[in-house]
Amino acid sequence: MLLRRLPQVQRLCARRAFTSKTHYDEKIVYQYASQQLKPVSIGQLLKYSQPPLTPANILDSVAYTQSELPVRLAKRVISFHNLPFIVGTNPHIARVYNQYYEAFDRLYSFAPIDSIEREWEFARALERQTQLLVDVIPTIAQGFLECKQYMKREERALFINELIRSRIGLRVIGEQHVALSYQFRDQQRSSLEDVWVGAIHTKLLPASMMRQCAQLVQNMCEMHYGTAPSYYVDGDVDETISYIPSHFEYITCELLKNAFRATVEFSRQSHRLAHPPIQITITKGEGYVGVRIRDQGGGIAKDNMRNVFEYSWSTMQDDETSTAGMSLQTNLAMQQGIGGPIAGLGFGLPMARLYAGYFGGSLDIVSMEGYGCDVFLKLRSIEGSVEQKQI
Ligand code: ADP
Ligand code: MG
Repeated sequence: MLLRRLPQVQRLCARRAFTSKTHYDEKIVYQYASQQLKPVSIGQLLKYSQPPLTPANILDSVAYTQSELPVRLAKRVISFHNLPFIVGTNPHIARVYNQYYEAFDRLYSFAPIDSIEREWEFARALERQTQLLVDVIPTIAQGFLECKQYMKREERALFINELIRSRIGLRVIGEQHVALSYQFRDQQRSSLEDVWVGAIHTKLLPASMMRQCAQLVQNMCEMHYGTAPSYYVDGDVDETISYIPSHFEYITCELLKNAFRATVEFSRQSHRLAHPPIQITITKGEGYVGVRIRDQGGGIAKDNMRNVFEYSWSTMQDDETSTAGMSLQTNLAMQQGIGGPIAGLGFGLPMARLYAGYFGGSLDIVSMEGYGCDVFLKLRSIEGSVEQKQI
């Protein structure tokens, strides 16, 4: 009986573990969290930024942003209360919880905005907040890695997927407004045609993004292993896509980290004298771009294939992870924007697939055991029907 009630007891306790704030604060969070979300499509968000930008457009956009973000943040805060107690006491998870709480606190307490001057203050606060929340994913990944045994994999996946989906929504809405706010002021200075529509880059060059990311990951790989394979980019290298660069970067860095790590480790294991290069091929389809990352890192064992898309599942050994994770905060400081250590958190593939799928893309892996992997990423350009996606 007691055992059956244990999850409930744990849940109550988890709530207590997290509630360092006053009772009064908590009532407000619950009040916001009980409000209905107002989903918005990218197309609707883009309407705010149709030139010419007027103060009325900006005030409309800020009114939506200001009413919507605190509700979304409050729902996230409450979702942490349902985690088992022990998970709630993990310092990484508690840190992210507090970050969400503080973000909620900052935004809900802003008085209604009726002037362009106040809108500028709000946009700055939003921008600072995005920077503060930049390491949420690797921090939460470290937390769940440490608490792996306390939650069922489905429960864990449900919580993390929800956290990440809502984070994408929060960021897109927030960044879209910040970008718009800048665009409005730039427009007042010059009327130069721009490739940015809010947070979306309408002429993103996948080939050059892949080169930048591969360079970054190659440096990480050098730092971690003291050696790294080379890479090259071929295919439709001049093609462009309309996409959110930070998402593109996040997905591809995770895939590249896997390819670099596998190559170096397989070279060691098979006493190979030189690392075969990593091939990155870009293809352009109707409304999407394809990226294939081909490595000769030995592939994935058949028995492991069903686990690779699971959160907190990794073949990096615990002792190695602790070197990568020892330094989670140091690592993060060094690797801002590319999502944590070279491997070990077990978040790369499930998250990359979630991000790719968010706007209708996909991620697939074909492994040739004993030889290498082909990873196929398909990203749909954010234009036309993709703009109808509700966030
Ligand atoms: P992590 O890299 O932190 O271990 P991921 O989710 O990125 O987590 O990958 C999970 C596991 O999938 C890796 O630990 C590795 O065993 C396997 N894997 C992923 N990509 C490759 C690849 N290109 N070659 C070989 N194994 C891979
Ligand atoms: Mg990885």
